[in-house]
Amino acid sequence: MTTRTQITPTKNAYFLKTDTSYHASISKEIFWKSHPNQPVSKIPFNSAVVYDRQGIQGEGVNINRKWVTYNKESNTLQCSFCLMYAPKKSRSMQMIQGCSDWKHITTRLFQHEKSHCHKHSTDAYFVNVCERCIKHIL
Ligand SMILES: [Zn+2]
Repeated sequence: MTTRTQITPTKNAYFLKTDTSYHASISKEIFWKSHPNQPVSKIPFNSAVVYDRQGIQGEGVNINRKWVTYNKESNTLQCSFCLMYAPKKSRSMQMIQGCSDWKHITTRLFQHEKSHCHKHSTDAYFVNVCERCIKHIL
């Protein structure tokens, strides 16, 4: 009789970009249960500024950056959308590797939001979310 060994990924594995679109030992469902990780205490940055983007044209409505995720192990911010969907060639991007430039963090966030890679990953995220919604209805 053989016993199956269940591989439990280490916590930091959730924050690794590998050759595949996401870490091979983590299913998409488990990945999205872990992201975004947005704690509001014991962090080296202002959570209101990082997690929320101020409303456009002074509407006063802040929008949550669902893609920003905090990696406690490395004390960095990462983009969960790009971790999952960015192409292999973008692996070296700061928001995939982890950003800890706290002094210029809002600039780094805006730069990332405007990047081609992030726009591609965001599109892929929403296509995936819609597919899940449709499967649920069928
Ligand atoms: Zn991104």
